[in-house]
Amino acid sequence: MSIQNNLQEVKQQINNKAVLVAVSKTKPNEDVMEAYEAGQRVFGENKVQELTAKYEALPKDIEWHMIGHLQSNKVKYIAPFVNLIHGVDSEKLLKTINKEGKKNARSIACLLQVHIAEEETKFGFSEAELMSLLSRELLAELEHVEIRGVMGMATFTEDENQIRKEFRSLKQLFDRLKTSVFADEPGFQEISMGMSGDYLIAIEEGSTMVRVGSSIFGVRNYH
Ligand SMILES: *Cc1c(COP(=O)(O)O)cnc(C)c1O
Repeated sequence: MSIQNNLQEVKQQINNKAVLVAVSKTKPNEDVMEAYEAGQRVFGENKVQELTAKYEALPKDIEWHMIGHLQSNKVKYIAPFVNLIHGVDSEKLLKTINKEGKKNARSIACLLQVHIAEEETKFGFSEAELMSLLSRELLAELEHVEIRGVMGMATFTEDENQIRKEFRSLKQLFDRLKTSVFADEPGFQEISMGMSGDYLIAIEEGSTMVRVGSSIFGVRNYH
């Protein structure tokens, strides 16, 4: 199967119910261009260096999303151009993004990463952490950050019920934030959940944005 065929198939399955972020990490520019030529404009990367290199080399109407764990000291490299940072998981990172947004005279869109999986290795806030973090004072201070929603990753398991339960918990947390902390923020509207193995379940559970890599570009070779 070609990238274009894969992309078409994934898009058919999504059926306009969520935004498709094509995850091109580890894949060469030619592969990104193949998807670009088939009409795809939103791409996700998980490493700052690779994201920056691809941004510089590829067409400027591509929307670049940072989907991986982001260290505060690397925000400066992507702050001028990044369209959405999915994995914001600390107060320090929020404040750094704000500072870099200010330097670049722009507001940087972010999603708060929530820990929904059973595994302890995944990054993200708990609900209690979020509720105590998101004070009026902090939100007022973050003038150059636009918090657009939440992001989460389900447990790596074959157990569909487990995955569904975790996605449902993220949707419910989003709903609680939407009617409390972000009640006056119409821009707070995204739930980034779902990858190649589980994006259809995620959409059924309310995902607005899916991050799909291997189903489009094939398996990744890490070297
Ligand atoms: C790699 C990655 C994806 C895409 O994974 P696939 O299983 O290849 O679709 C999605 N989200 C994040 C955060 C990733 O790092």
